[in-house]
Amino acid sequence: MSTKSFVVKWEEQELEKVSAVEGVSVEKLQRLLDAGRVVIPRNAKRAKKSGDREIALKAIGPGMSTKVNVNVGTSKDYVNLDEEVEKARIAVQYGADTVMDLSTGGDLDEIRRTILKEVDVPMGTVPIYQAALEKAGVRAVVEMSSDDLFNAVRKHAKDGIDFVTIHAGVNLNSLERLRRSGRILDAVSRGGAFLIAWMIHNERENPFYEEYEYLLDIAKEYELTLSLGDGMRPGCIADASDRAKFMEAITLGELVKRAREEGVQALVEGPGHVPLDEIEASVKVMKHITDFAPLYLLGPLVTDIAPGYDHLVSAIGGAVAGMYGADFLCMVSPSEHLALPSVNDIKEGTIITKIAAHAADLVKEGQRERARRLDDEMAYARKNLDWKRQFELAINPEEAQRIKNSRPSESDACSICGDLCAIKLVREFLKK
Ligand code: SF4
Repeated sequence: MSTKSFVVKWEEQELEKVSAVEGVSVEKLQRLLDAGRVVIPRNAKRAKKSGDREIALKAIGPGMSTKVNVNVGTSKDYVNLDEEVEKARIAVQYGADTVMDLSTGGDLDEIRRTILKEVDVPMGTVPIYQAALEKAGVRAVVEMSSDDLFNAVRKHAKDGIDFVTIHAGVNLNSLERLRRSGRILDAVSRGGAFLIAWMIHNERENPFYEEYEYLLDIAKEYELTLSLGDGMRPGCIADASDRAKFMEAITLGELVKRAREEGVQALVEGPGHVPLDEIEASVKVMKHITDFAPLYLLGPLVTDIAPGYDHLVSAIGGAVAGMYGADFLCMVSPSEHLALPSVNDIKEGTIITKIAAHAADLVKEGQRERARRLDDEMAYARKNLDWKRQFELAINPEEAQRIKNSRPSESDACSICGDLCAIKLVREFLKK
């Protein structure tokens, strides 16, 4: 592992706090941070601006617990700031490690700044949305100037945003691979689609790729973490693991290297829709060609035919991907592919993604023992029919309690077997 000097400097106290949460030594954490293999997104300005309000430090990368991001935000069709704030709040309540505001409707500055004030976890955005939406008319996307793109990044950084998705790997090279790929769904990343349309219309290279040094300068100034987006991510099972995706990933690996050389923290985003038997290869190849940059997965969704249940479809893929080394899972809500999520969709999506992250941690190097302690405690609580402890340990205690109380048992067991409780019976006869 090569070590670089990063712009962000962590206080000893901060590292101690993170290492205690993650159950790793400060030395190991520092080593991984120095190599850029673990990132802790935090905008220096936000840290200062927040005064005595502490912003949680979240270490993302190998050896750390699998993190969960939750996307909130308005659309052009539905704008309700209070609801977006409530979504962010409920996401954090149910364990989101980070929140991203992906708003594309209403007053984007007001929405972003309000959510930023409400959450005490790292917050991310996709600045290209704002650059495009500040242009009027239907052709807004192709009329953005390179300045519009970078100004949007600077504006978000100035506000204190901790990490930004930048689709710098969508370039003329990956576009050529996309043209030849014969995909069904071409591109499904919104930011990626904006840039594809822009490059074709303007017959120019993507400014985020062409002027990457300038992007790094902004990132350095604000200690902004770059989340290198996967604009070429496959949007259906048929399109998974093709050359367009991996061409982009190769570029992202090069961009990670350049970010590290400039002391900028960077992570890499991954697919998308991937069948179960391709997840291992997908994660491992992404990891290797990006020199083990933290890997942030949007899914992966393991089938296309379950609209309404895509949070479950994504959690299946997320758990498997986490087992093979994915570090950061993006929540998918039940309303994926159908509608802007409701507050309850965000809650359900967050909980199921946390379950996927924990399932991955149970088999993940460095987190196995810590995660196992929780499961073992639950097993003992079950053995003792200690319902209070079971609820305390549950990922969603209220739901567990609600179900238990909805069909109570006359015995101290539950109403599935009642007096015939297998645990009780065997425990009695084994005299344990
Ligand atoms: S009653 Fe049946 S399901 Fe309920 S705790 Fe006992 S063994 Fe488990």
